[in-house]
Amino acid sequence: MLSKDISQDPLPYEHNALSPVISSDILQLHYSKHHAGYVAKAIAIAEKLESSRKTGEHNDYKALLKDLSFNLNGHILHDLYWSNMRAPREDNSPKGKLSEAIIEQYVSFERFQEEFTASAVSVEGSGWCLFSKDQYGNLLIMQIENHQKLSPLGFTPLLIIDVWEHAYYLDYKNDRASYVNNWWKLVNWDEVQRRFEA
Ligand code: MN
Repeated sequence: MLSKDISQDPLPYEHNALSPVISSDILQLHYSKHHAGYVAKAIAIAEKLESSRKTGEHNDYKALLKDLSFNLNGHILHDLYWSNMRAPREDNSPKGKLSEAIIEQYVSFERFQEEFTASAVSVEGSGWCLFSKDQYGNLLIMQIENHQKLSPLGFTPLLIIDVWEHAYYLDYKNDRASYVNNWWKLVNWDEVQRRFEA
C-alpha cells in the first residue's frame, strides 16, 4: 500500500463521445487496457520501492527507476491527453489570450497547426507530441519518444496528442497523418486555455 495514492481519473466523457474521430472501441481499449496497465505497473514499482525501505531490502535501482519513469509518465501523459479532448467540432480553434500568444509566436494559428501536425506525424516510433509553456511564457512544441524520452523538465503542458499506434491503429491503420489531422476537431481549447492561464 502506497502512502500517497497513484490513481486513474475516470474519463471525462462516454466511450463514444469522440467518435467518429476516435472510435468507442479504441477509446475503451486505450483507457481500460493501455492506460490502466501503466497505472498498475507504476503503483507496483512505487510500492516495491516503498516496502523495501521498511524491510531494508536492496533493489536494482537502474532497472526499477527506468520502469517507473516509463509507466508513471505513461499515466500522467494519458491523463493530460483525455482531458484536452472533447466531442468533435468543426472550425475548432483557440480564443482570447491563448490565440493571441500563439499568433504572436507562430505568425498564425494555421502555421502553428502545420508545425504541430508535422511534429506529431514525425515522432520516431511510439510517442507523443506536446505543446507547452516555459517559465518565461515561450510556447514550444516538443516530441516525446515512448513516454519519457526527449521530454525536458520544468515546462507546463498545454496540449498533447498520443501518437502510439494503439491510439489510432484500429481506426486509421498505419495512417498516422489522417489521425492527427482529424484529431484537431477534438481539441478542448477551453482546457488548453485554462492550463495556459494557470
Ligand atoms: Mn496511449
